Amino acid sequence: MPLEFFILAGIWGACMGSFLNAVAHRRVRDRPWWGKERSACESCGHVLGVRDLFPLISWLILKGRCRYCGAKISVRYFLVELLCASMGVIIFWRWKFSWACLLSAVGACAIVLSSLTDFESMDVFDEFVIFPGLLGLIIRIAGGWPAVLEGLEGAAIGWGIFALIIFLSRGGMGWGDAVFMGGMGAILGLKFILLGLYVGIMIGGFWGIAMLLTGKAKWGRHDSIPLVPFLGAGCFVAMIYGPEIFQYLEKKIYISFQVWPF
Ligand SMILES: [Zn+2]
Repeated sequence: MPLEFFILAGIWGACMGSFLNAVAHRRVRDRPWWGKERSACESCGHVLGVRDLFPLISWLILKGRCRYCGAKISVRYFLVELLCASMGVIIFWRWKFSWACLLSAVGACAIVLSSLTDFESMDVFDEFVIFPGLLGLIIRIAGGWPAVLEGLEGAAIGWGIFALIIFLSRGGMGWGDAVFMGGMGAILGLKFILLGLYVGIMIGGFWGIAMLLTGKAKWGRHDSIPLVPFLGAGCFVAMIYGPEIFQYLEKKIYISFQVWPF
């Protein structure tokens, strides 16, 4: 595969990162994100021009400061664009031009959007999950009825596991996590959403232990931490390495799993 395609995948990812960042940022402030509102400096309100809006590059050239008033621009913009560029390259490297690539790209958008809003305001917005989930089911039509059914089962189980936890713990967890895993289940399908859940909880657990060891968190303190970034990371691992993990399991337990996505 020529190098140019990977560079394009990275640029596409960085642009998506820039866009999703703005969408998430506006949504948590209850501002419309779909209209004609131009991006403007948070400090001086100066409308940003084309040369201020190049993902990654503008932030680096401006050294993280507004061109017009010199106010600091959060490193968050740079980091999210870098993360999304990396995700774009990884997805394309893994899936080339395929349905799996398209499905992974939709999933990655849902993961980034909901992680950003959860991180910023502990909110997961239904439309940022349900729309990608429906898109995932539509893409699954390409794999025929069993692939759509797999997506529906994934949505039901992804949502259902968290609904059960909420029911048993009497509201100890937010509905946002349930909605997020429902939407991701539609994209990933039943087996891969379960893998994503497992990996996500493992990553969250290691993160928690690291926080305890470094003294950044203490036992018994109920800080609410956003869960979606961890679940999202688990789902991303499932989208990229799921087939290899299931192949390994097949050799161990002699059960055959259908390949992803269909
Ligand atoms: Zn400014």
